[in-house]
Amino acid sequence: MDSRIKNISDEAQKLGCTVETGAVLKDHTTFRIGGKCDLLIKLNGEESFLRLIPLAEKLNAPYYIFGKGSNLIVDSDGISGVVFVVGKDFSDISRSGNVLTCQSGASLSKICLYALENSLSGLEFAYGIPGTLGGAVFMNAGAYGGEMKDVIASVKAMDRQGNVKTYLPHELELSYRCSRFKNSGEIILSADIRLENGDKTEIKAKMDKLTEQRRSKQPLEFPSAGSTFKRPEGSYASLLIEQCGLKGVHVGDAEVSTKHSGFIINKGNADFSQLMELINIVKNTVKEKTGYVLECEPLIISDKKEFSPKKEEDL
Ligand SMILES: Cc1cc2nc3c(=O)[nH]c(=O)nc-3n(C[C@H](O)[C@H](O)[C@H](O)COP(=O)(O)OP(=O)(O)OC[C@H]3O[C@@H](n4cnc5c(N)ncnc54)[C@H](O)[C@@H]3O)c2cc1C
Repeated sequence: MDSRIKNISDEAQKLGCTVETGAVLKDHTTFRIGGKCDLLIKLNGEESFLRLIPLAEKLNAPYYIFGKGSNLIVDSDGISGVVFVVGKDFSDISRSGNVLTCQSGASLSKICLYALENSLSGLEFAYGIPGTLGGAVFMNAGAYGGEMKDVIASVKAMDRQGNVKTYLPHELELSYRCSRFKNSGEIILSADIRLENGDKTEIKAKMDKLTEQRRSKQPLEFPSAGSTFKRPEGSYASLLIEQCGLKGVHVGDAEVSTKHSGFIINKGNADFSQLMELINIVKNTVKEKTGYVLECEPLIISDKKEFSPKKEEDL
């Protein structure tokens, strides 16, 4: 093992983090695609962020931050470096009045159920988005007319040297599937979510209705990363894909869902190259036939140069 990786692994174990060498990343993404990484560490408290991320920086070791991996496309050939998982081991939720303070590894579903339990309304839209709070803030996740922007009161984050800062909403640069964190490289530690007093029965009814809507319209029975493409200005990705006759088109087990053409699904054993080939077919066909340029919503993680973020837009 690379001495830098060994150093980080030793430090993580001292902090009581769960550590796995050669973890298979398909087990950490909802697409169920992804090869091995050198080391996977489940962060288990602020101390682990503050010690391990600056250490990785200092050692110049490559590393990635994963939440639930529900918006990631990871190379089947594996990636070098460390994957820090922010999940269950860093997922406390507490309440003060109408404000919930949530650690970034808390799942949106858990936070929604906590809000329901406390008769707090405003987060129902997020029930069913299968990510963590950190991933949802990073992406400004949204659905059914709501987005994280509507409910975030503040976000505590650290830069990669370990300096911690609390941001107010106007500093977060939240827009469609975007936040300051996409550019700043800071890591989200926790967020305050401001909700309103509501009626438990009504909150539950709304959550149930949205769950049913998801079940009936989305191919939830297959692995995916949700919508594969961002909504282009002036249209909808799913509409354009359908108009271009791309429903059901597949490369191996990667398929444009016949239930919802905005989703590419993994019907079994799709790999990264099949998925990327299908994404290219969809982008090129839509561009040729309609003039719209589709942009991938999930983030692509690969050691290969051609998939670096800069190049992604040109795919
Ligand atoms: C079936 C399905 C339905 C979906 N429906 C929706 C939907 O309705 N609306 C929607 O917006 N999205 C949807 N998504 C996409 C996805 O669930 C969201 O984008 C979610 O917010 C991602 O959270 P995550 O924890 O999985 O993040 P990941 O996919 O693990 O990571 C996404 C990005 O966030 C970064 N990140 C994660 N945690 C942190 C942190 N603590 N600090 C800094 N950066 C961090 C990662 O580095 C990565 O760049 C759907 C996905 C699926 C599979």
